[in-house]
Parts: sequence; C-alpha cells; structure tokens
Amino acid sequence: MRSLIVVLGDQLDPESSAFDGFDARHDAVWMAEVASESTHVWSHKARIAIFLSAMRHFHQSIVDRGYPIHYRRLDDPRNLGDLGAELTASCRALAPRKIIVSEPGEYRVRQILESVAAACDVPLEVRIDRHFLSPLEDFRAHASGLKQLRMEFFYREMRSRHRILLDVKGKPIGGKWNFDEENRGSFPKSGPGLLPAPTTFPPDAITDEVIQLVNERFPGHPGKLARFDWPVTPAEAAQALDDFITHRLPLFGQFQDAMWTDQPHLYHSRLSSSLNLKLLNPRMVIERAEKAYLEGHAPLASVEGFIRQIIGWREYVRGVYWQFMPDYLESNVLEAHVPLPSFYWTGDTDMACMRQSLGQTLDFGYAHHIQRLMVTGLYSLLLGVEPRAIHEWYLAIYIDAVEWVELPNVIGMSQFADGGRMSTKPYIASGKYIQRMSNYCSRCRYDPAKSSGENACPFTTLYWDFLFRHETFLYTVPRMEMQLRNITRISVADKATIKGNASLLRSE
Ligand code: FAD
Ligand code: SF4
Repeated sequence: MRSLIVVLGDQLDPESSAFDGFDARHDAVWMAEVASESTHVWSHKARIAIFLSAMRHFHQSIVDRGYPIHYRRLDDPRNLGDLGAELTASCRALAPRKIIVSEPGEYRVRQILESVAAACDVPLEVRIDRHFLSPLEDFRAHASGLKQLRMEFFYREMRSRHRILLDVKGKPIGGKWNFDEENRGSFPKSGPGLLPAPTTFPPDAITDEVIQLVNERFPGHPGKLARFDWPVTPAEAAQALDDFITHRLPLFGQFQDAMWTDQPHLYHSRLSSSLNLKLLNPRMVIERAEKAYLEGHAPLASVEGFIRQIIGWREYVRGVYWQFMPDYLESNVLEAHVPLPSFYWTGDTDMACMRQSLGQTLDFGYAHHIQRLMVTGLYSLLLGVEPRAIHEWYLAIYIDAVEWVELPNVIGMSQFADGGRMSTKPYIASGKYIQRMSNYCSRCRYDPAKSSGENACPFTTLYWDFLFRHETFLYTVPRMEMQLRNITRISVADKATIKGNASLLRSE
C-alpha cells in the first residue's frame, strides 16, 4: 500500500488536505472507534454518541465514493480499545509506505500518531488543516514579538486579511470593528417571549444503533441520550446553519449574553459541534452571515458579533493552544487546588443558576457561552478549583469539546490560570451579574445581594473572598483597580465573616 490516510473523529471532511492526491488504487482511508477516547475523560454519553454517529455517517460517505477504507467499529470483538494500539496493528498488517493525516486537534493525539509512526518505522506526513482560515504558521507570525496576545488585534487582522465586513476602502463597515457593547442585552421581566425553536435532527438508523451501543458500553457515564438531536452529517449541519441564519441570527447579538430559565438555546446557533467535527466549513458560515447583513435580514451588531466568534475567538483559541502546549495544560497561576464539587456531574445543588446550567448540560451536552463562562466557569474560578480538574470536566461534558478549543477557553478565559496570556483580566463577578443577565435568581433560595448571613449567595460570598485572597496579584492586572477599590468599603469584621463562609463553601 502507498499511503494510509488517517481520519480522526473530528476530521470528517472529505475535502481535507489528507485526501489531496488520494488514489483509490494505491491508498486507503483508516478510521477507528476506540473506547479510550471516551474514557480518558469521563465523557458525556451525548459527546460519545455524536462522535460515533458522525464517524459512521462519514464512513458510509467514503464507501459511497468507492474509496477503500479500514474502519474498526467499537463493537468489533477484535477492537483493541486504544487509538495507538489499533493504528500500530493496522500499520503492521497493511505495511503502508506512508501515513498521512491532517493536523490533529489535540496535542496528545498528535503524540500518539508520532509514536506509532516511529514504532512502525513509517513516515508520518502531517498536512495543514485547511478547515481553519488562519494557518498555525500565520498565528505564530502574529504572536511573535508581541508581549501579550489579545483577541481583538488578531480579529482585526483576520477581518482585513479575509475582507470580511469591510467597505471599499478596507475600513470596517459601520465605522468600528466591534459592536460588543450592543451585545449585552438581557430580557425584560416578562421573559424572551416566543423563541424560534431550532431545527432538530431526530436519530436515524445509524444514530439509533450508536445510542444503543453507548448506553450498553458506557452506562455509568454522565448525561442522557433521550433528547439527542444534533446534526451528524454535512447535509444536516447545512440545514442547521440555514435555520440559524433565518430565525435566530437577527437577535443573536442583542441577547448573546442573556440567560433564561428552561431556555437552553435562546438565539444561539448550536453550530459548534458541526464546526468542530468539520461537518461545516467556517467560510460558508461567515459568508451566509455576511450576506444576511448585506441583504438587510440581520443588523450589523448581530452579524459582526457572530462573525467575531467564528473568525475571532474560534481561530484565536486554536492559535493560543498550539502556541503554548504542552505547558499550557499545567497552568495554575492562582494556585487553585480545590477539588471539583461532585454536583458538577449531577446538577444536584440549591443554586438555581448552577442547577439550570448543569441540568441542561446533562440533558443535551450543551450550554451557551455565558452559562459556561459566567456560571459554571465563574463558580469554579471563585471557589478555587484545580484548573486541570475543571478542564477535564469541560472536555468531558460538552458535545463540542475538542481540546484545541476547550482548553484555552477554560484555562485562559474562564479560570485565568495562565495569568493573562490570552485575555486581559479574570472574568469575575458576584451573583448580581447573574441576576442582571437572567431570571435565575428570582427562583433561587439565595439572595445575590448578600455576601454573608442567611441565604447569602455563594457567588457573592466567593466573589469577595476571591478579591481578598488574590488582592496583591490582582493589583498587577490592568483594569482591576475599580473592583479592588471596593474592598476598602468592607469592615474587618465583615471580611472575616465572608472568609469564614467561603471556607465552608470550599469544604462542602
Ligand atoms: P454561538 O453562541 O452560536 O456562537 C457561534 C460560534 O462561535 C460557536 O458555534 C463557536 O464555534 C464559536 N465560538 C463562540 N465563542 C467561542 C469561543 N470562546 N471560543 C471558540 N469558539 C467560539 N467551544 C467549543 O466549540 N468547544 C468547547 O469545548 C468549548 N468549551 C468552552 C469552555 C468554556 C469555559 C467557555 C467559556 C467557552 C467554551 N467554548 C467552547 C466556547 C463557546 O462557549 C461555545 O463555542 C458555544 O457556547 C457553542 O454554542 P453555539 O454553537 O450555540 O455558539
Ligand atoms: Fe445563582 Fe446566587 Fe442567583 Fe442563586 S442567587 S441563582 S446562586 S447567582
């Protein structure tokens, strides 16, 4: 055999660089479903199911193309249960002259492939991942010489380079690059009103079979499969994109940061899993969003806000990941060592905001950005959870979790464990922020205004305690002065009470 084309579970794009020059007479595709990829972190059942189902649909499409493929199913009795072991066995049996793969999304997986190739004495060709608009080399060039990385500067470069939302003179349409301040609306007391329900994708025969398999093989894993309705093919992903552009993009920007009880999706796109599995090309997503603006279907603030997530944050965090790995995984600047509270795996807590965010996560494998950043992530940051523990939770629990995107969002943006390598300051707030952005507090036994005493909100207690604990360090972080100045208004006695209550929360 000439070349073995390795396709990983998050590389389901037949146009990827790994297929360049593919010749069905001499080359073959290789894929494997292995248990270790679902157990190295304690994966949500829906996360396991979406990968397996999308892989099986992709396998079918490769067979339909007439390409030879070696595909190991999870339920094959010969399955060795591990990516490296499976690939080694195939290399020995098939004796390819070369292994070809598109850049893996995880450092650990790249290392596995390199070790297999070395052990089997076969050259490994790692090809650029064309899915992304910014090759890693470009990101390295952007980063070189910069004292600090900032998404905003990267984003502006991306807008200019790819000529997105620019006028004829190359200036940003609307006169500014960023409409962030228009993206922070909350719903009125009466709630969001009638929301456009997203298109769902009921399981077909392949997904049904996978769901049964996951329930049998991973019964103790977190999460449920009863409401599994995610896109698992490129056609379904394209339909989900259509649905978002038509029904939710116009109000996406305004309510991007809002939350509401029993409304898991609001105006969000639900496209992250399709993008990360490579069922959907980000260029198509951007093109459709820009067109919606140009045709007057969606306002600029919404379209810019959405495009910023895709060509800004999504590409930026990938650059950050590969720039700083493998050390990045060990970041713990705030020296946080508290174990992850067990209710993260069950949703069993009196805090209404956490119960809602965790509950929908367990039901769907989904929470939107502000729930991840300003509820589950914020609580972990304020409590002082070990960054590695909260990272493993995020990697396990969301259907869109792949390490290149999950890790910087957790270690950098949410936990500030990298000390500000990728964002300006820690995202900290008291329960009052959650009260402003949602109706969770009105259904909670705690009071977001109280930091001590009966019914004190744990977020508010821990917010002040966080400022006390990290005061010296935080004075070195730009734009923290205002929050720190408020400490002086707290009496010594109140400080002691808050610290005591925070210790109790930490020991629960
Ligand atoms: P929308 O709100 O509709 O946003 C549109 C798209 O923009 C998303 O589909 C996504 O592709 C992209 N996007 C938005 N924000 C980000 C971001 N901060 N970083 C990268 N891409 C972004 N995203 C993942 O894809 N996988 C993860 O494992 C993941 N873990 C996260 C962990 C934490 C602690 C935080 C704060 C964020 C995380 N994100 C992750 C980013 C973001 O929360 C999700 O992409 C988003 O909630 C997915 O829902 P959606 O498709 O409805 O997104
Ligand atoms: Fe969350 Fe505190 Fe509000 Fe309760 S009061 S919902 S714990 S922020």
